[in-house]
Amino acid sequence: MSRVFNFSAGPAVLPEAVLTRAAEEMLDWHGSGMSVMEMSHRGKEFESIIAKAEADLRQLMGIPASHKVLFLQGGATLQFAMIPMNLMGAGGAADYVHTGEWAKKAIGEARKFGNVSLAASAEDRKFTHVPPQSEWQLNPDAAYVHITSNETIGGVEYHWIPETGKVPLVADMSSHILSRPMDVSRYGLIYAGAQKNIGPAGLAIVIIREDLLGRAPAGTAAMMDYKVMADSASMYNTPPTYAVYVSGLVFEWLLDLGGLAEMEKRNRAKAALVYGAIDSSGGFYTNPVEPRDRSLMNIPFRLPDAALEDAFLKEAKANGLLQLKGHRSVGGMRASIYNAMPLAGVEALVSFMREFQRAHG
Ligand SMILES: *Cc1c(COP(=O)(O)O)cnc(C)c1O
Repeated sequence: MSRVFNFSAGPAVLPEAVLTRAAEEMLDWHGSGMSVMEMSHRGKEFESIIAKAEADLRQLMGIPASHKVLFLQGGATLQFAMIPMNLMGAGGAADYVHTGEWAKKAIGEARKFGNVSLAASAEDRKFTHVPPQSEWQLNPDAAYVHITSNETIGGVEYHWIPETGKVPLVADMSSHILSRPMDVSRYGLIYAGAQKNIGPAGLAIVIIREDLLGRAPAGTAAMMDYKVMADSASMYNTPPTYAVYVSGLVFEWLLDLGGLAEMEKRNRAKAALVYGAIDSSGGFYTNPVEPRDRSLMNIPFRLPDAALEDAFLKEAKANGLLQLKGHRSVGGMRASIYNAMPLAGVEALVSFMREFQRAHG
């Protein structure tokens, strides 16, 4: 068996220890004589799996009792619709901050449900920074303020939490949830698709303040109503049981390594290596993002021309460094270095980058 270093933006690398454990437990979970995939979601075994997953996530993130944890389906993309459906109210309004490709998708979907204002936009600077709060124009009557706290494609991350007064703050944390401690109490709603930093695709996690439940208009489909999902403990229908189980193993892995403060240390060290290689390359490698807003998780970079970029991808692959191609909308390279990417993978990437520059620069 040989494993590569996988820099995919998502679905992405998972901790090897988690995959090994899932493999060991595949045929017989804890003496049950069956795989988690084969269990009733209403049985006591699976109930213990989902309860432990929630308890571990609460401990990891310090989720206060005021917030519910929901395990949902439909990815982060369904949340682009569920949030306005549930929170905007008839003829309502919401503020969105436009920071790139994922914010754009959230905004487009929300416009189907109500009045969307752009409180701020980074479009004039090609989405290479987070507009500082001093430039935001907030509507005090908005139902919520939506941010994309890590733009997976542009590699732009909020390293601060906006102040929105009484208006609930809603954040798409898909690609940096669990990468460092976050003060959950400052948010009305946090959501994330699982396949970046949590677990298998097919699962989305929503952390929602209880007073935001029960606001969906009559006629909202049950599966789209946060209150229905909260009242049924995410089991209104059959949840994505195996994805919940593997996510639970990831939470255990994070607790065992020392929690999110330790994870942040490791993530900062990894990101510093890649940005260091870019910034010390004399312009051979470039990253366009304002340094203070650079993402610790997704690092886009370019080479001097397209032929060199093709050669880079080919040689990287030959060296066991995979999925480094940037998103089709921006081109170039992108290294996604999520929690599960080991330091050794980042060291291998950085030494390859130096070697490639020596040979072609
Ligand atoms: C990947 C991603 C999404 C979309 O996630 P799906 O699970 O595919 O719906 C949304 N927002 C951000 C920030 C992402 O990185």
